[in-house]
Amino acid sequence: MLEYHEMRIDIFTLFPSMFLSPFQESILKRAQERGILTLFLHQIRDYAFDRHQMTDDVPYGGGQGMVMKPEPIFRAVRTILGVGLRTDAVPVILLSPQGRSFTQDVARELAVKPRIALICGHYEGVDERVREHLVTDEISIGDFVLTGGELPAMVIVDAVARYLPGVLGAAEGAEQDSYASGLLEGPQYTRPAVYQNMDVPEVLRSGDHAAIARWQRKMALRRTMERRPDLLGRLEMTAEDRQILDEIRRDLSEPYEC
Ligand code: SAM
Repeated sequence: MLEYHEMRIDIFTLFPSMFLSPFQESILKRAQERGILTLFLHQIRDYAFDRHQMTDDVPYGGGQGMVMKPEPIFRAVRTILGVGLRTDAVPVILLSPQGRSFTQDVARELAVKPRIALICGHYEGVDERVREHLVTDEISIGDFVLTGGELPAMVIVDAVARYLPGVLGAAEGAEQDSYASGLLEGPQYTRPAVYQNMDVPEVLRSGDHAAIARWQRKMALRRTMERRPDLLGRLEMTAEDRQILDEIRRDLSEPYEC
């Protein structure tokens, strides 16, 4: 478990209003109300000082689209974080499809920081000097290209906030989630016990906590084996896990009853 601490996230964007609804609902709202998470939205355009407050321009060398200008981004980040704050103490993260992949491990890594900053690109991206001289990290949320870094920033804030102690209730703990435990989570059910002849597995209604825990572990191992066998290779397995995996292999090799 992570130690309790408060976290501040500064987001630099040309479209701050995109964040308003997602940040004012559900768990992110609760985290802010409890003072565990503080989110600041900074309009990059407010730091563009030319007459037209231009934040983008045509690319040198020709090519499609517009590129975000360096000066407003440098000014915004340096004003908010302080000049010379290019240290790992406050990671300055550029959202980019070319960055390192965002995973549950990266969410956990960021969640221990007291403060991070996220820069959202738009159009064809940002001037390379921002990447070279201002940011300390680049993160991609997947091998696809989105219109802007706003949705990726929301994804990161959401995944990181789940790790902050006190954000989720004890019963909702993030540690059991898919990936957090190194496995995909197994199937889950709620009431009613029978819905249109579809039953909830008997063991889950048995009240036998040891049997339930073993069944849940087995289902998580089975689901991971079927969908993400690559994760199993990295899992630190107990002797019981190995026994359960043998059992699963036997179950899967048994012929179906007709
Ligand atoms: N021309 C850029 C390239 O080919 O790498 C793509 C620019 S994209 C249209 C505009 C902005 O969206 C990027 O600067 C970045 O901030 C954000 N973005 C797009 N896809 C992303 C992804 N998969 N992960 C993180 N940010 C992304």
